[in-house]
Amino acid sequence: MHMPLDNSFAALPDAFYTRVAPTSVKAPKLLAFNEGLAKLLGIAATDQDDLAQIFSGNSLPQDADPLAQLYAGHQFGNFNPQLGDGRAILLGEIIDSNGIRRDIQLKGSGRTPYSRGGDGRAWLGPVLREYVVSEAMHALGIPTTRALAAVSTGEDILREQGMLPGAILTRTASSHLRVGTFQVFAHRGQVAELQTLTDYAIKRHYPDASGPMDMLRAVCARQADLIAQWMSVGFIHGVMNTDNCAIGGETIDYGPCAFMDDFNMGRVFSSIDQQGRYAYGNQPNIAIWNMAQLATALLQIFEDKDAALEEATAIIHAMPDQIEAAWLTRFAAKLGIAAPTQEDTDLVQSLLDLMQNEGADFTNTFRALSDGAARDQFTDRDAFDAWATTHAERIAYLPNVHDIMNAANPAVIPRNHRIEQMIAAATAGDMAPFERLMAAYKTPYTLTDPDLAKAPTQSEIVPATFCGT
Ligand code: AMP
Ligand code: MG
Repeated sequence: MHMPLDNSFAALPDAFYTRVAPTSVKAPKLLAFNEGLAKLLGIAATDQDDLAQIFSGNSLPQDADPLAQLYAGHQFGNFNPQLGDGRAILLGEIIDSNGIRRDIQLKGSGRTPYSRGGDGRAWLGPVLREYVVSEAMHALGIPTTRALAAVSTGEDILREQGMLPGAILTRTASSHLRVGTFQVFAHRGQVAELQTLTDYAIKRHYPDASGPMDMLRAVCARQADLIAQWMSVGFIHGVMNTDNCAIGGETIDYGPCAFMDDFNMGRVFSSIDQQGRYAYGNQPNIAIWNMAQLATALLQIFEDKDAALEEATAIIHAMPDQIEAAWLTRFAAKLGIAAPTQEDTDLVQSLLDLMQNEGADFTNTFRALSDGAARDQFTDRDAFDAWATTHAERIAYLPNVHDIMNAANPAVIPRNHRIEQMIAAATAGDMAPFERLMAAYKTPYTLTDPDLAKAPTQSEIVPATFCGT
């Protein structure tokens, strides 16, 4: 198999990473391979064994320059001065057929100098969760890292739940630069490295930015839109630590993430998020907090610290309005309104309030708005009808309302109970549910598998997602 690698990160100074090869595994078996993505990357598929060897890390592509990246990060608000890829290895980069440089990274490929106490491995459940959810996010049109392959290792690993089958995910990303990548050098006072990193990030992600401050502005803009998009499909990331916040604006590091069924602003899935720091409705605040950490790190580059602080503060202070505007654009589209005005905020908010009161299903309520079936989602029909009358008046003379709604309201999202069922089946050796989900989530705005659109029954509800990844 040929991988046309072109490695720019490995050409940076040693301070940014440690060269380390994947640790080979006993009996790699290919579970999934993303042919469409492979084609975009110019990877010619060969036989399954060859793919299993490469994507398990047992054999390296010819031009690979494997390394683990260094970074730091705030985890649940507490600064950890050194994290880094503890179980991920960057093989190199490929410039895809759209001209975008993409990292090719193995996740779960063995220990690195940054593993701390960890085993460097991942188990099958989170690997397949990330595979399915990241590809669904991509199909939904939301910026995200993607899944290229999943391989089982033939080795069992120990997690809280007991011994579990090991697996490795190969993912692609427009880069793995994180807020934490900047923080590690800022914390150490390595200003030259911080400058080099910033130059690299500008060149790779924001070639039009005039300098670090302009880059900060651009990163904030992408985060604002990203968070609004998450909110608009009921997505909860679950671990928005600064090391899980990508500079390029993609959704990254799918851990205990989940899509909401019944609407609740305070919904938390992650079993370790006791305080609700990363609750659905708190995601805008956290995105701003993360950008403030990036701003803080970048300040070190500037000679005139006072002027830089003033400018950075203004950028961060602009974020709430920016997110609000992006949120309104996304949610108004869900109501069929392409060019919202400030008053539409109330229209959106009053529907969300009704949904919250009744725990209406987020995805199905919005999807049903265009076919008039949304009132079935509510027991207080009068309250809904009153809202629907106002809505009908608002959209009466607007063009393409139904098309706008159907393009903004997915028919299917990866519901947590379906993901859990898929993982249980895969753990028992049955990949059919995985294939079924992947097929349906490829076209989330078209209903192809009606069963997958159904909200979970009482007994199917999965209230928490465990972090033992
Ligand atoms: P995550 O919560 O997956 O974003 O990981 C946070 C940090 O812990 C990162 O530095 C990871 O590389 C590291 N980490 C997570 N799981 C493991 C593991 N099993 N072995 C080594 N390092 C890990
Ligand atoms: Mg992470």
